[in-house]
Amino acid sequence: MNAFQFQNPTKIVFGPDTVEKLGELVQPFGKTVLLVYGSGSIKRTGLYDRVLSQLNGIGAKVLELPNVEPNPRLTTVKKGIEISRTHKVDFILAVGGGSVIDAAKAVAAGVPYEGDVWDFCIRKAVVREAIPLGTILTLAATGSEMNGNAVVSNWEEQQKRGLGSPHLYPKFSILDPTLTYTVPQDQTVNGTVDIMSHVFEQYFSRTADTPLQERFCESILLTVIENAAKALAVPDDYAARANLMWAGTMALNGGLISVGVQNDWASHGIEHEISAIYDIPHGAGLAVVFPNWMKAVFQERLDRFVQYAVRVWGIDPTGKTDEETALAGIAATRAFFTSIGAPSRLADFGIGSEHLDRMAEEAVRFGSIGSFKKLEKQDVRDILELSL
Ligand code: NAP
Ligand code: FE
Repeated sequence: MNAFQFQNPTKIVFGPDTVEKLGELVQPFGKTVLLVYGSGSIKRTGLYDRVLSQLNGIGAKVLELPNVEPNPRLTTVKKGIEISRTHKVDFILAVGGGSVIDAAKAVAAGVPYEGDVWDFCIRKAVVREAIPLGTILTLAATGSEMNGNAVVSNWEEQQKRGLGSPHLYPKFSILDPTLTYTVPQDQTVNGTVDIMSHVFEQYFSRTADTPLQERFCESILLTVIENAAKALAVPDDYAARANLMWAGTMALNGGLISVGVQNDWASHGIEHEISAIYDIPHGAGLAVVFPNWMKAVFQERLDRFVQYAVRVWGIDPTGKTDEETALAGIAATRAFFTSIGAPSRLADFGIGSEHLDRMAEEAVRFGSIGSFKKLEKQDVRDILELSL
């Protein structure tokens, strides 16, 4: 196990009707609030009215940044920065999925920064301070509700890049699983794949002697596999939604499964290049890419892939070579994704080979990616080609 420091300052307020605690949670941070949300789901579900009633209850002045896109745009973030500066916003409240939360984080980082907020995404600058933010999560997927990361799309340059900072952990996140009852089937699937992918990025590691982190990973995967099917069959199954939600948070909060372990993140890097050009949902892109990444790298550390096949998918290794067992685990991953309705090929989005070179080149713009196996441009291209 590697040496590590761990601190996660986000307060989680979990359970039905926890939105009713919003007023008291926001109050310590000031009176002028920027409310960030997406293209309307929170209005359709009545959540918007509940949020406003809480904010009005503490006498807050509320500004709004609506219409945050899935794969949030830099232009929208800049709009939020301008509103926040003009009205001297004290606190940012994100109500939505990962896209809304990520946009809110980028606004929070951009307001006190004199330069272009995109600088944080291209590693030209580091976030040194941010406006405090809180979230109400409506979709189990990204873990953004309890981490310091955000992903922003620069549509003009067709680039999708991340920024991260300890200053960007939400002060609190309200997690009410009942708010996810209305998540459409395809987004439930995308969220499931994203959660599992976050675990994969940390589980397929070269770091040795981390049995606790590995078992945490396996239990998150097993929990997600069980509960995704239930939530898809019965969208208002509270236990299924609650377990998916908590699994999503635990899968990417820098804690349980992450500490002391060298993470990979190559598959996310590759997926971001696909979304940057084709604007496909993040989870859907990961469903296509991840099993192909697995096929490309599993020989690097066969024992981890054998363990995955046996413990997560119940593959019986008797009479099989390690390679056969590992491949059976990878095949089970693909079969599960397919069983819940996730895409398996870029062709499912009408994507062909036109931009493979460009995507591969952009993926390694800052050098090789991944740590389980370091991937150069050609390796990335091969995985993309396998994904066609
Ligand atoms: P999302 O893009 O936030 O939301 C997808 C869609 O789901 C939107 O159309 C949204 O509609 C809808 N939706 C959300 N909650 C709903 C509800 N309760 N009922 C009905 N519809 C609902 O999806 P996401 O998967 O959470 O976020 C994806 C983004 O996060 C990507 O850009 C990805 O790269 C990024 N990401 C971030 C991290 C991180 O750590 N920060 C990690 C992985 C991925 P509305 O717009 O109307 O709300
Ligand atoms: Fe992700």
